[in-house]
Amino acid sequence: MAGIYVHIPFCSSFCLYCDFYSELAAGKMDGWIEALSLEISRRKGFLHTAPSTLYLGGGTPSLLSEAQLRRLMAALRSGFGLGALEEATIEVNPDDVTAGKAALWREAGFDRISMGVQAFDDDRLRWMRRRHSAREAVRAFHTLREAGFDNISLDLIFGYAMLDRDSWLHDIGEVIKLAPEHVSCYQMSIEPGSALGEMASAGRYAEPSQEVCAAEYSMLQQRLSDAGYRQYEISNFAREGFRARHNSAYWRREPYLGLGPGAHSFDGESRYWNEADLDGYIAALRSGEDAPGGSETLSAADVFNEQLMLGLRTIEGLDTAALDGGLLCGAQPAIEKAAGRGDLILEGTRIRIPAGRLFVSDAIVAALFQ
Ligand code: SF4
Repeated sequence: MAGIYVHIPFCSSFCLYCDFYSELAAGKMDGWIEALSLEISRRKGFLHTAPSTLYLGGGTPSLLSEAQLRRLMAALRSGFGLGALEEATIEVNPDDVTAGKAALWREAGFDRISMGVQAFDDDRLRWMRRRHSAREAVRAFHTLREAGFDNISLDLIFGYAMLDRDSWLHDIGEVIKLAPEHVSCYQMSIEPGSALGEMASAGRYAEPSQEVCAAEYSMLQQRLSDAGYRQYEISNFAREGFRARHNSAYWRREPYLGLGPGAHSFDGESRYWNEADLDGYIAALRSGEDAPGGSETLSAADVFNEQLMLGLRTIEGLDTAALDGGLLCGAQPAIEKAAGRGDLILEGTRIRIPAGRLFVSDAIVAALFQ
C-alpha cells in the first residue's frame, strides 16, 4: 500500500482553534497549482508502487475551482497514474458544497468525502469562527448524498468551554440522525499558533477540565457504539467496511508521499517534510529546485517509539513480534506495569489499549518509549 496526500494550503478565513498551515486563498492558488505540478514531476519516483489511496486535505480543498481541480487531477494522473486507487478522499467545508461541486468531485474520481461539521449549534459555530451554520451543514450532507456519495465522514469537536453535556449529546444525536458512514471526533486543544492560543495567553479562555473532556469522550464512544459505529482508532468510528484506508495506512507506517507546502512524506525508513511556506515553495519549484524542506532518518529507537505510538492508537493495537527485540526487552517492565493497571491488554504477542483507556493513551504510550 502507498498513499498520496496533497496539502491545499488555503482557507477563506481562519477558525478559532486551528493551527494547520493555511493562507488566505486570494490570488495565490494558480501559482500553487503550477508549483505543485512541478513538484509532482520531481517526485514521481518517491513511491515505488502505484498509489492505492489519495487524500486532498488542508486547508480547504473544497475551495478549488473546477479548472483548478481538473488541473491538479491531471497532474496527479500523469505523475503517478491513479488507476490502482482504492480510495480517494476530499475534505470539504459545508459552505462550499453545492450540487455542481459535488458532481465535479465525483467526476474527478473522489469516492469519499470528509466534511468538517464540528457542531450543530449556530452560537458555538460562530464562536469557533466556522463559516457555516448547522442548517447549512445538514443541507450540504444531503447534497452530497444526492450526488451519489455513499462514503461520507463527518468531523465533530468536543472538549471546549462552550460545550456542556446536553449540547454535546445534541451534536452526537444530530450526527447519528444523518447516518454518515464514518465519524471523526477531536478534542479541541489550545495551539500556540491559533487565535484560541492567543485568547488563552491573554487569560480570555480556559479549557474545561480533563475530567469533563473524558466524560464527553466516553459519551461519544457509548452513543456511537449504540448507533452501530465501531471505534477503530482514538478519534475514528466507522460502520462495517468504511474505515478510512488512507489514514489507517499512516498507523501501519506504510509509505506515503505528501505534496504541497507543509506536507510530510514517509518512504518506510525516513521522514521528509516540505516547509510551510507557500511563497518559498512556489519560488523554489519555479527555479527548478526541490521544494524547501528537510528529512530525518529514524533511529531504531525512533522506529520502535513510532510503532508503539501509531499502533496503539488503533483498537487492534500492535503485534510486538514486529518490534525490535532488544528495545522490547527494555520496555517489558513498563508493558507489564501498564497491563497490571488495566492500561494495556496483552493477547499473545499483541498489545492494545482498552477502549475505556484510549482517552489517556498519550500518557500510557509515553511510559513505554525507549
Ligand atoms: S479548521 Fe479547516 S477551514 Fe478552519 S482554518 Fe483550519 S484548515 Fe481552514
